[in-house]
Amino acid sequence: MTDLTKLTLAEARDGLKAKKFSATELTKAFVTAIDKGNGALNAYVLPTPDHALAQAKDSDARLAKGEARPLEGLPLGHKDLFCTKGIRTTACSKILDDFKPPYESTVGQNLWDAGAVMLGKLNNDEFAMGSSNETSAFGPVINPWRRTRDGKPDNAKLVPGGSSGGSSAAVAADLCLAATATDTGGSIRQPAALTGTVGIKPTYGRCSRWGIVAFASSLDQAGPIAKTTRDAAIMLRHMASFDQKDSTSVDTPVPDYEAALTQGVKGLRIGVPKEYRVDGMSKEAEESWQKGIAWLKAAGATIHDISLPHTKYALPAYYIVAPAECSSNLARYDGVRYGLRVAGKDLIDTYENTRAAGFGKEVKRRVLIGTYVLSAGYYDAYYLKAQKVRTLIKRDFDLAWDKVDCILTPTTPNPAFGFGEKSGDPLAMYLEDIFTVTVNMAGLPGISVPAGLSSEGTPMGLQLIGKPFDEATLFRAAQAIEDAAGRVTVKDHWWA
Ligand code: GLN
Repeated sequence: MTDLTKLTLAEARDGLKAKKFSATELTKAFVTAIDKGNGALNAYVLPTPDHALAQAKDSDARLAKGEARPLEGLPLGHKDLFCTKGIRTTACSKILDDFKPPYESTVGQNLWDAGAVMLGKLNNDEFAMGSSNETSAFGPVINPWRRTRDGKPDNAKLVPGGSSGGSSAAVAADLCLAATATDTGGSIRQPAALTGTVGIKPTYGRCSRWGIVAFASSLDQAGPIAKTTRDAAIMLRHMASFDQKDSTSVDTPVPDYEAALTQGVKGLRIGVPKEYRVDGMSKEAEESWQKGIAWLKAAGATIHDISLPHTKYALPAYYIVAPAECSSNLARYDGVRYGLRVAGKDLIDTYENTRAAGFGKEVKRRVLIGTYVLSAGYYDAYYLKAQKVRTLIKRDFDLAWDKVDCILTPTTPNPAFGFGEKSGDPLAMYLEDIFTVTVNMAGLPGISVPAGLSSEGTPMGLQLIGKPFDEATLFRAAQAIEDAAGRVTVKDHWWA
């Protein structure tokens, strides 16, 4: 039999329906691949093989009765930011310790109700704060991709992006068919770009945030990382839903995104914002951007120069809004209600001990910045200003939608980088998000799709930004890029 782990989600779905293999065989193939490969990649922080095989057995029973649900028997990885009922959920922080949630996130429940199988919980940056997956309490995730330098293989370890680095690495390394992820400032799209996978952050309100460990509530969104545009389309359809339990969830129908893929891009108006040509952008990013423009044009789209004048303020404003909300959300980790407790001589001492021991360096940095910008005297100067900038950024996009249907930019300024290259310099790390944060600030959908390889043989990603709730158009345009660029996959499975 062929290696089932190499199938796309759509191929596996069709193979199960055609009874070419069973859900149990498919799941076992992934359980074996995780057993062999996870030691080297550290993508999963908690494989759940027994749980997966029990779900697969149930799927096989349904498949046999002809009662298959849309994702019946398809094995997925699940970011550890999603609460899983009775299964340890840590957000990859020591502070949550051995927390076993008494409930399932809505996105997770939607997937399991559609028949999907959970292979385990995936690594991420602590509380989803980071761009390299180096801040996880479980240690970093290794990118399955390696560079070539001067035509020779270079075995230096590369980061898989973050915060959803476990999700991107697991998908790129065939340790799951697809994975859940979350994106507050780029954490779905940036890791997808650095691993040659497809990741979409839907419109704010498209997926329920209920049961997802909160980082910055006005920016957080769930979405998939997958091997292909089609797989991402299938996944998003079954992750998204209106949810009474999330007051920011929007009651609007979820279209069949897979059906939209056949529509092509003829006549679609694509905007190219001049402000995204920033200092420090690699030659490679510029080149892949130009290739993307040519591919879309050749497929029948029209290209339009546009201006998003407030782009340059997005990153500084994000790094005020996100830490502000983080400091407020993370106040709940007090050693009393969840996870870790390091007792002290009195209550205040217990809070301090617990938070000092439980949070990592990056999280502490954000809590300090956030507390500062929200404090009396600084609130107006920083937080309120940043919120005003946010409105201006949103207005830039609102004006652009008069002229174009979606916007094309690079996803990241550079391809995957090495460990430690940026982790000592928070500002260099924050620059990773320069093209992605605007999308969260404006609440818009954004997708990253592979656009070939860099001169070092590592993936480059292109980002498409869309109108609110118009993910379907993004999938169409992403499919056109994928058709032209081709899929990129790691040739040497060195971890297996
Ligand atoms: N890298 C960004 C940050 O550190 C975004 C993270 C995210 O999207 N969760 O805040």
